[in-house]
Amino acid sequence: RVVLGIESSCDDTGAAVVDEHGRVLGEALHSQKEEHLRTGGIIPHVAQALHRQHIARIVQEALEKSGLRASDLSAVATTVKPGLALSLSVGLEFTGTLLQGLPTPFIPVHHMEAHALTVRMVRPLPFPFLVLLVSGGHALLALARGVSDFLLLGQALDEAPGDSLDKIARRLSLAGHPECRAMGGGQAVEHLALQGDRLKFNLRTPMGRHLDCNFSFAGLRTQVERTIARLEQEEGVRDGQVLSCVADVCAAAQHAVCAHIAKRTHRAILFCKARSLLPERSPTLVVSGGVASNRYARQLLQVISDASGLELLCPPPRLCTDNGAMVAWNGIERLREGIGILPSPAGIRYQPKATFGTDISEEVKQSA
Ligand code: ATP
Ligand code: FE
Repeated sequence: RVVLGIESSCDDTGAAVVDEHGRVLGEALHSQKEEHLRTGGIIPHVAQALHRQHIARIVQEALEKSGLRASDLSAVATTVKPGLALSLSVGLEFTGTLLQGLPTPFIPVHHMEAHALTVRMVRPLPFPFLVLLVSGGHALLALARGVSDFLLLGQALDEAPGDSLDKIARRLSLAGHPECRAMGGGQAVEHLALQGDRLKFNLRTPMGRHLDCNFSFAGLRTQVERTIARLEQEEGVRDGQVLSCVADVCAAAQHAVCAHIAKRTHRAILFCKARSLLPERSPTLVVSGGVASNRYARQLLQVISDASGLELLCPPPRLCTDNGAMVAWNGIERLREGIGILPSPAGIRYQPKATFGTDISEEVKQSA
């Protein structure tokens, strides 16, 4: 069995051919990050135009590298939810064109499910396991019980951690910092934080009194921005200039974001243990998403996992961020189970907003 996966839900156009052993036979990716960095954020119709410009080439490249033709595929899997409407539409339309006249089945994919199952591409990890997804667009904690069976324990109530770090980086003008060239926001904060002292500023960890598994990063970002404004005034720094204590601000911000993530994860572990939702033998915490590549976050999560007797698993960074392989793998998982396989993409709509799993966040809150 071989599946072609197509991803275009946000700002990455990705395609990959993956077999049932999780081997990537061919893949290609076009990231729009640089284009969007110039405009200071994703403009949906610009993202759509870029997806349209690159998708045919990206899919062709993935197929060529695999040495297969579209007619050799067991199925084509494409992300149809959630994401930007204009971006999702490009992947789905292209899939329609590609499959026209072919008997190849179509598998619609939920982007977050794909992220959550990616780990099984590289390790034969049995269900159930706990998943933490932290990226530029999401923060969520879920118990993975099956290929399409998730319990949602908590999620971001306002903005995502990667988004907060990107905004903080922009506010600090890190893109122009000599040590941070060609780095994304979160990466730049991580880099400078290594030279900083997080104890110089006292930032409150969000939602300390809420004993559930939801996340909130917007208030924390505002705290950081207020601190920056105060320091700029004290130092007489102008727009675009860099603060003398920029590394300390980065260290404090990174600590607060990561400590919040770690505390919520610890709560999720406690809840799962109290309900015996995790296996007694080798219970596992899987961490994925762009923010999962942050080494400080990993250190905190490692401490929590060790203390709770869980094994911490992080898929390699190239599989943690948006890519075609995770979508193809979701197709493989569905083919194996025989779920969600359609004769063609005809009549399928993309869904910008989509729920993820069975939401039990209220139950988690009440059990506290
Ligand atoms: P989503 O996957 O939710 O649709 P996305 O495509 O923006 O959103 P990813 O590609 O998974 O998310 O990750 C990008 C985010 O990860 C960015 O916000 C970036 O700042 C953050 N990030 C990347 N590297 C690091 C790092 N080392 N430390 C902290 N954050 C990081
Ligand atoms: Fe993603």
